[in-house]
Amino acid sequence: MRTTTEPVIRLAAVTRRFGRGRSAVDALRGVSADLPAASFTAIMGPSGSGKSTLLQCAAGLDRPTSGTVTIGGDELTGMSESRLTKLRRDRVGFVFQSFNLVPALTARQNIVLPLRLAGRRADRAWLDELIRRVGLGERARHRPAELSGGQQQRVAIARALITRPAVVFGDEPTGALDLSTGREVLTLLREVVDTLGQTLVMVTHDPVAASYADRVLFLADGSIVEGMDAPTADRVATRLTRLGG
Ligand code: ADP
Ligand code: MG
Repeated sequence: MRTTTEPVIRLAAVTRRFGRGRSAVDALRGVSADLPAASFTAIMGPSGSGKSTLLQCAAGLDRPTSGTVTIGGDELTGMSESRLTKLRRDRVGFVFQSFNLVPALTARQNIVLPLRLAGRRADRAWLDELIRRVGLGERARHRPAELSGGQQQRVAIARALITRPAVVFGDEPTGALDLSTGREVLTLLREVVDTLGQTLVMVTHDPVAASYADRVLFLADGSIVEGMDAPTADRVATRLTRLGG
């Protein structure tokens, strides 16, 4: 657990322009946000509003055109590609819509893969605890093809947590799951925030998914137009409709 009240992620006046000249697209137009430790933030907005670009810049997968991104006190701007790669590996976890598991490996092997790639040893107790927390149990010895979608996403969540990252980013993590499985995965994500103190940022289209977050940031045309605390699905849906999403 962190002892400081520093935000885990700080975005300061982040812009991202794609292309140049008359065909340039301003995907982000000066986004600033401080995300505290152990917070769950949902990012919403109409298609093309800049959600994915924001996530990519915040996670160090893409570089802002201007402005700064800070993760756990480290400013990403100006970092060399190799330092950025190391930061992503050690300090950031990812959960995608499409699970992205390695088919030939068991669930357990998939979970420890980020550590192995970093040349680090898995902490056996932590691995066992994660497997238990995400509810995999004996399933941990199975390969992805032998697991349901919800189980595969649980593997991906454990894999995102194995390095004890500063922040976990999710891009529509429940987008490929049926309704009730999606709710189970959201409940798990909420528990990960509440019991492990994990900081989590999730892009979603789904107002019910967003209602699991502590705060929703609404994007429109590359800018944050509103932050909503203690969101409910109804309030989120109403706001989204007004944004044209
Ligand atoms: P969202 O995830 O909210 O749908 P994106 O962040 O994907 O929005 O895109 C925001 C804007 O930036 C869109 O107009 C999109 O077309 C543009 N954009 C995103 N990525 C690129 C890229 N690699 N090259 C050019 N334009 C891009
Ligand atoms: Mg997107």
